[in-house]
Amino acid sequence: GVDEQGLIRYLGAEKPADVAIETVPGAALPGFQNAHSHAFQYGMAGHAEQHEPGTRDDFWSWREAMYACAETFSPEQNEQVATTLYRHLLRNGYTSVVEFHYLHHDPTGRPYANLAEMGERLVAAARTAGIKITLVPVFYQKGDFGREPAPRQRRFISNTTDEYFKLLEASRPAVAQYGRARLGYGVHSLRAVEAADVLATYAQGPNDLPFHLHAAEQILEVERSLAHLGARPVEWLLDNLPLSEQFHLVHCTHMTADETRRLAQSGAQVVLCPGTEGNLGDGIFPLVDYAAAGGRWSIGTDSHISLNPLEDLRWLDYGQRLIHRRRNTFADGATTLVDTTFFAGQRAGGHRVADYFALGQPLDAVVYDLAQPLLAQAGPAHLLPAIVYTADPTTILGTLVDGQWAYQAGAMS
Ligand code: ZN
Repeated sequence: GVDEQGLIRYLGAEKPADVAIETVPGAALPGFQNAHSHAFQYGMAGHAEQHEPGTRDDFWSWREAMYACAETFSPEQNEQVATTLYRHLLRNGYTSVVEFHYLHHDPTGRPYANLAEMGERLVAAARTAGIKITLVPVFYQKGDFGREPAPRQRRFISNTTDEYFKLLEASRPAVAQYGRARLGYGVHSLRAVEAADVLATYAQGPNDLPFHLHAAEQILEVERSLAHLGARPVEWLLDNLPLSEQFHLVHCTHMTADETRRLAQSGAQVVLCPGTEGNLGDGIFPLVDYAAAGGRWSIGTDSHISLNPLEDLRWLDYGQRLIHRRRNTFADGATTLVDTTFFAGQRAGGHRVADYFALGQPLDAVVYDLAQPLLAQAGPAHLLPAIVYTADPTTILGTLVDGQWAYQAGAMS
């Protein structure tokens, strides 16, 4: 039972006599938390898959296609594409999204009259769709380690921490327009911001908010970091920042065994984006070793090549099964996958929750159809694994945000 704010007021098998109730023949999981999104990239998802014979297509050539998409995107397009994306995230069982936002300025690279114009459009899209959003405007300053930005990056650029903080502050009223919106901050990556300014951004920023950044997605990035900073990206972050639960490091694909152990023990959390990492040929994150050392992680849809959280969880698990040649990659696989991505995802969005469902906590849930044959025959012991390893969006009856249906099967607009 929920109150008018969508907060859970009772939990139990016995319904109080004075409460009207809607009965649903399904099984509810806590809503999935999407901890990493670049909404505008949904405008090109699946459009960079024709590979010319005799050429090499990798992360860096994909990035050129992504820049071409970013060059002309208007505020209206940003809002339209984000609205469509967020509706489809709800349809896939996500109830919140962290928008890692760097498409800040107009197509000539000049700030909009409202510095946070593009971020405000993302918040408006989330409101239209009904999803929770944490807007994370990030500082983007350089083209690469020690290099000036390329013309195609002009819409992303703030030159100084002062410029970035003005943008961040301008984002506060945008976030205040929607009761389900929150704010985070961060830097794009070590390759996009000077090391001293990464430290200044963290030190001078609002330390009550989650801090996000990309790290160690590509081998070339690790090599350039070694050449420029004398350290690998994750190594540098461990040595120079007070990493803690406040930090959310996206990807961290390429780490040594020592970095993996230290990062896990630092309390910082990793955001894994298996659909995108697979699509871009990034590599495979050392998840078994990281988890064994106590590391925590969330998931994100990043470039949005896949929007199904269960597909992304399977990618994660199957990648590890393939390289370790065993099936029990995690103790109690499905439970571990759902549990860690829920709590780490909540922290990535700046939320504090006690449990999946708890009194006084918002009712955010995705409901799977127990009439579907594979779920109908699963029984309590196998129901969660049956959902995690077999379900797709057609198995979903609906998604609840703050106790209201934000999506119901058959009612998709
Ligand atoms: Zn990203």
